[in-house]
Amino acid sequence: MNISILVFGSDHFLTTLPDQIHDTNTFNLEAIANLNQAVSQIQVNPPDIVLVQASLDGSMELCCWLKDQTNLSWIHCILLEERPEMISLKAQGNWEWEIEMNAAALQQGADAYIWQIPEITTSNTNTNHCLLLAQLTVGIRKAQKYRDLIRTNDLLSAIALADSLTELNNRRALEWDLPRQIHKARSNNTPLSLIILDVDYFKSVNDTYGHLVGDRLLQLMCTRIRHNLRFQDTPFRYGGEEFVILLSNTSCHEALVVANRLNRIVSEQPFAINNKLAINITISLGMSCLQLEDDKNGVSLLDRADKYLLQAKSSGRNRVISYDRHICHTPHLEVMSS
Ligand code: GH3
Ligand code: MG
Ligand code: MG
Repeated sequence: MNISILVFGSDHFLTTLPDQIHDTNTFNLEAIANLNQAVSQIQVNPPDIVLVQASLDGSMELCCWLKDQTNLSWIHCILLEERPEMISLKAQGNWEWEIEMNAAALQQGADAYIWQIPEITTSNTNTNHCLLLAQLTVGIRKAQKYRDLIRTNDLLSAIALADSLTELNNRRALEWDLPRQIHKARSNNTPLSLIILDVDYFKSVNDTYGHLVGDRLLQLMCTRIRHNLRFQDTPFRYGGEEFVILLSNTSCHEALVVANRLNRIVSEQPFAINNKLAINITISLGMSCLQLEDDKNGVSLLDRADKYLLQAKSSGRNRVISYDRHICHTPHLEVMSS
């Protein structure tokens, strides 16, 4: 693993650092001496460790700012004290003052505060640098733990939000995503549409061929549907043989085109379960698109699509129904049938 270090310090400060830091096999080193540039670099490309030259203007501000960023709190911030007046005060052996200085640096945001003893007072540079190298080890440990945590977290999120049979997003994922998509659509003033679909007479598939064949059929249908969606359409397994598709940046008119296409691609070709068995199925679909009066969680948006789905079922199945219309457009969408 390559550890990234951002040095907030001058070119000269860089030359005073241990040779190990310059080992490009272990560290990606970048030096910046301007506070605003350092802040934007950390935001764009967060390093694992920030090494701060205490005498540089903005050194404490950078440590304070870093600790205020909750999403960057894993970054290990080392403040290196090399101001001659501080070093000489320390040399006078005033323990009380030194402890107060250490406490202030830590309280203001540094994870470690290290005194850079001038070389003339040390027998060799290893002694001079050993504390700094030890703190780099702490930073590396933190970065490794943080990366492991993120990896585990990503894995658990993927498991929690995926449906194991169809590999689509599950209902929990929809409940998480729908309010966000609504918020985004309203902030960007873009349309948002929703399709809910249900397999027609699916119980009879189970009753005729058994649940394993039913499972396989659901998998094949989901694959076919997924391959016929656009990049901005997100499918979810809502439950059983019911699915929801969120169509971001999609008007009612466009969503109707997508819904009718799905209706067609499911019904026009049977699903080959194995060499001997191919099953024809149809689906019914309800489609709604976001209206001004819809609530922010998407309950009314989903409920409308569900009502249209029920109408599609009661009016004969294998069809799309929507009475929603685009808030910016006047045409009223009529019942569509396949
Ligand atoms: P309709 O046209 O009214 O929707 O009829 P239907 O038979 O599809 O509806 P119903 O609600 O009566 O039955 C749904 C069936 O879907 C019953 C249930 O066992 C089956 N089902 C739900 N989830 C799964 C699954 O994961 N695998 C299998 N094999 N069957 C499932
Ligand atoms: Mg059904
Ligand atoms: Mg159903």
